[in-house]
Amino acid sequence: ALQVGIVGLPNVGKSTLFNAVSISAKAQASNYRFCTIDPNVGLVDVPDERMKKLAELVNPNRIVPTQLEIVDIAGLVKGASKGEGLGNKFLGNIREVDAIIHVIRCFEDENVLREEGAINPVSDKEIIDTELQLKDLESVEKKMQKVEKQARVGSDAKAKAEFEVLTRCKEHLEKGKSIRGLGLSKEEKLAIEDLCLLTEKPVLYVANVDEASMHTGNKYSEALIANVKDEGAEVIIMNNSIEAQIAELETEDDKAMFMDEYKMTEPALHRLIRSAYKLLNLDTYFTAGVQEVRAWTIHKGWKAPQAASVIHTDFEKGFIKAEVIAYNDFVKYGSESACRDNGKLRIEGKEYIVQDGDVMHFRFNV
Ligand code: GDP
Repeated sequence: ALQVGIVGLPNVGKSTLFNAVSISAKAQASNYRFCTIDPNVGLVDVPDERMKKLAELVNPNRIVPTQLEIVDIAGLVKGASKGEGLGNKFLGNIREVDAIIHVIRCFEDENVLREEGAINPVSDKEIIDTELQLKDLESVEKKMQKVEKQARVGSDAKAKAEFEVLTRCKEHLEKGKSIRGLGLSKEEKLAIEDLCLLTEKPVLYVANVDEASMHTGNKYSEALIANVKDEGAEVIIMNNSIEAQIAELETEDDKAMFMDEYKMTEPALHRLIRSAYKLLNLDTYFTAGVQEVRAWTIHKGWKAPQAASVIHTDFEKGFIKAEVIAYNDFVKYGSESACRDNGKLRIEGKEYIVQDGDVMHFRFNV
């Protein structure tokens, strides 16, 4: 599964959020799969209304959602990039993830220790950003030293181009900016791919607000939203303590009652997971049979054989063709056979680019 890392300063509500995720993962485990990978890694189902709708129509023995891995990356503090505390280890953990959820404290509570004085979401964000940028600067400079000679002396065009991209990255980072905002082309990105730069990873922000501001936000979350506007990043306003409490409730009825009290229609966690999924540029296709209705994760733009490989590698090797029904058609006609009768079941070959929501059935040689 793809990994999303939770980062932020101490005492902003990261573990609370992570607990909410891992408790709901455990609760779901009774239905099908249980997976504890590590105390700091949890698997979470990706909520998808379409999957539920398909299950209503097909009435399968089980429903299997697709999942994301969430990693709690605690311990980032000012000075981490200089190796203070366990800073370097934590920065290394960020290198492994595919996207970042940056939790920012937007609640006041004198019982919750805060080293940095008055609540200040913008400066909190910048403290973390600076550490990541400094670490990236180190990686970029190291690589520049390696390619500099080749770029200067010989007629190595590739090294020259690489050096030019690295120089731009360096200048950008030195201005206190993150690589994701540099606007590198696809080709230029290849030149720095091996560095796995921390500030290149897609990010979304959680404004952890108090209960009273759960639906409206507050002056702190507003300051954060104004600050990240240029980045085009999403800010999710939620209350992490409430999310952990919802997760701890055992039955769906209890959860519904609790959420009703807080005028919530669903856990904010669901919004967060869906947004993280979007951030990773992922699509979902479905398989829908009497045994199971199941959601599968692919990258946008994948062709049918590659999409089939998510189910089993043999599916890709032996791929013959795919039967495809668009999600909307499946819902409109209500079943595979009705879709077939109405000409809505398509036969697609190796070049077919799978569309989000497609209901797929693969034919393959073993
Ligand atoms: P972390 O260091 O970022 O992982 O922070 P924790 O999740 O451990 O939270 C630190 C403290 O803040 C704990 O005592 C939490 O109960 C508390 N906390 C977390 N979220 C909220 C919140 O939304 N409101 C309030 N008042 N306290 C919170």
